Amino acid sequence: MRHEESLFSLLESSVVGEKRAFIFNVDDIRFPVTFLAGARPGKTVLLTAGVHGCEYCGVQAAVELAESLRPEETAGRIVIVHAANLSGFRERLPAVVAEDGKNLNRVFPGDASGTLADRLAHCLSRLQRHADFYVDMHGGDLHEAMFPFVFFPGVGAPEVTEAARQAARALNVSVRARSSATSGAYNSAALRGVPSLLVERGGLGVWSREEVDAYKDDIRRLLAHLGVLEGPGGGAGESQRETTPTYLESQEEGCWYPAVKPGLEVERNAVLGEVRDLFGRRLRVHCAERPGTILYMTVSLSVKAGTPLVAYG
Ligand SMILES: [Zn+2]
Repeated sequence: MRHEESLFSLLESSVVGEKRAFIFNVDDIRFPVTFLAGARPGKTVLLTAGVHGCEYCGVQAAVELAESLRPEETAGRIVIVHAANLSGFRERLPAVVAEDGKNLNRVFPGDASGTLADRLAHCLSRLQRHADFYVDMHGGDLHEAMFPFVFFPGVGAPEVTEAARQAARALNVSVRARSSATSGAYNSAALRGVPSLLVERGGLGVWSREEVDAYKDDIRRLLAHLGVLEGPGGGAGESQRETTPTYLESQEEGCWYPAVKPGLEVERNAVLGEVRDLFGRRLRVHCAERPGTILYMTVSLSVKAGTPLVAYG
């Protein structure tokens, strides 16, 4: 049996009380996946990690959750894709799929006749159709430092947005950011009626035990909120702040000298950093247009025109 058939047929089957871990493998689409059918009926939750191959906290948290979650403690089903963009993970490529250079999180819902990233997105969109809730586990990329926070989709039907907002409150992060994007994996799922979140923890091409444990704790809280696992409940709840981030992009290529750090609160007009050329001459000073928390920022020396420098809100 082809492994694609085994995953989709498992999702359509009435199997209970089982866990299966295998490589999804059809044509050139390959990724490690764990399918867990709980002992009791409940919701189906899809988790993906490694859509961006160098965002390691999400990948390691997915690996450890797949190992530790047990059918006996689960109501419903959990599907965990450990590393969706496996070639980007293997090649340590920031943001893109190795074979076509496309950012997988910009091509959803995908295209069955496109390049690998398009077909991978199409395949993951098929998986999303089986889900009652979808969580995409990210973190800062190789060149990005991150304050832990969660994105929720602002583009779907009001009840989808509200279900995502309530789920975001179950996480232990102090900021939830409303997104107006449409072609990301979670945004696209929301547009098709599946409430979803994108979690951001870790960054800079590293991972730590502390961050992975915090990640797993967040996902367990979320699964408890959805009724798929027993406790721990709680999370940030009403103390979590909602924002629509401001995204600052570089207007020229050059060298980037940030003046802030993730988590820092900035006032309007605070200096965020400056871009200089390779002779050290100042090209532009970037200031905050509004107050907010620094959510993530580029830390690489090299920046190109049109690429992100800082997101805050
Ligand atoms: Zn990412």
